[in-house]
Amino acid sequence: MTGSVDDCVKHITCSVDHKLCMYRQCISCCSKQMAFAEDVAEDTDVCWWAWVNKSEQRVRRQADGTETEFTVRITSKVKQMGSLASLKEQFTQEIKQYCIHKYNIIPQHTELKNLRANLKSNECVILVDFSENYSTKYSTEIQSVHFGASRSQVTLHTGVYYTSCGKESFCTISSNLRHDPAAIWAHMRPILTKIKYKYPDITVVHFISDSPSSQYRCVKNLYLMKTLMHQEYGFQHVTWNYTEAGHGKGPADGIGGVLKRTADEVVNAGNDIPDAATLYHSLQKKTCVDLYMVTDADIANIDAIIPTAKTLNALKFPGIMQVHQIRSTARDFSLQHRILSCFCSDLCDFFQPKVVWANVNVSKINDSDKSVSDVSDTRQVAFIATTKKGAAKCRKNEKVKGRAQKSSNVARKVKSRKAKCRSDRQSKQKSSDRRRPLLAERHDVEPKMTIRKPVWWQKRQQLMSGLQCLFIMIIQKFYLIALIYHKMTRL
Ligand SMILES: [Zn+2]
Ligand SMILES: [Zn+2]
Repeated sequence: MTGSVDDCVKHITCSVDHKLCMYRQCISCCSKQMAFAEDVAEDTDVCWWAWVNKSEQRVRRQADGTETEFTVRITSKVKQMGSLASLKEQFTQEIKQYCIHKYNIIPQHTELKNLRANLKSNECVILVDFSENYSTKYSTEIQSVHFGASRSQVTLHTGVYYTSCGKESFCTISSNLRHDPAAIWAHMRPILTKIKYKYPDITVVHFISDSPSSQYRCVKNLYLMKTLMHQEYGFQHVTWNYTEAGHGKGPADGIGGVLKRTADEVVNAGNDIPDAATLYHSLQKKTCVDLYMVTDADIANIDAIIPTAKTLNALKFPGIMQVHQIRSTARDFSLQHRILSCFCSDLCDFFQPKVVWANVNVSKINDSDKSVSDVSDTRQVAFIATTKKGAAKCRKNEKVKGRAQKSSNVARKVKSRKAKCRSDRQSKQKSSDRRRPLLAERHDVEPKMTIRKPVWWQKRQQLMSGLQCLFIMIIQKFYLIALIYHKMTRL
């Protein structure tokens, strides 16, 4: 009697922490079977629900009336009927898959989390994911826009790159709805160019993505990684790490969600977003996420360096769907892959990495196909030129920005000084305004201005008043003498 699936796993393995046990390769436990209750007969009819993947043919009607058939893959919950024995058989098969998933999910998640937290100065982690396509909208729509195929879509490739200095989120926007490896690398190019320019010391790049086989987990994507990352961008070591299926939402999903909500707010405010370019311009004013446009020509440029299907077939290796890490170096054309990621060193051989493409003759690929080396050489030259041009442009921009900042700093200083003076004057005025009625109240009169005169002025005043007194005294004496003389002469 077991309470959960995890109890079932414990029941059939020696340890849930050992890879051999969980991959059902351990000699002691690989033959251990689930112990089912035996009180019900094996041939009893039972029914159960199961998630079933199936392909379905659908018909698309074109504008000219012709119909084209296409295949879609759908997952649905299906009620299944059968004997108890067949249910037991199906459960035993499913639990094997679950053991592998359970062993992978926690170490892979922990390893990728630790990598982001402890990055060296020469390392960069790029986490990428395609967001669900954005359906263009008008602020007011007639009914036929909602129902017909009038609503066009826009591809959003979102992600975050982490360096030892911090992280930055980005989104590349395109009207091209391709999500295949050529499109992925066209969407990656502006981001890689920016990283290369902004952090020239970075030599090691780790990619993190989920693992859809038509996008990131395929030979074409790995071939482009090898060609572009080493030959065009000159990175020394590159790893591509796949998250285990069912890992939940990541930061890239969050960025997609925020951008779509911002776009919807723009539409709700009365603006139309009929195409990718309008979406790009509308979002640029509203978000701090780095935005770039990707054109059909950008994707066609990548298409030009993909080798023929025959060559790609020759590059296929078994077990690509089980691996979680691909390692690549600029030294040679080979790749290493292993079931889980580890970042302790470039030469770490934990999880027994396997080498592939070691015997691939690169020059032969290049000769037989569209001369990859020529294309990548010219591309490399073009890249150096563009980065040089870009660097010069950036430096110029920075200079202009610096100058503008300098002048704006001076202007700000002058402005702040003026404002300070004004506020001082105002506060003085205010304080004097406040003081004046107080003084007037206290003395009931306007206070008299008393000017303190200099010392020489005071002495002069004293001298003047002294002379004045002397003059008056002399006049008085003269007057007295004159009076006495007049009286004596009368007698
Ligand atoms: Zn075991
Ligand atoms: Zn290691």
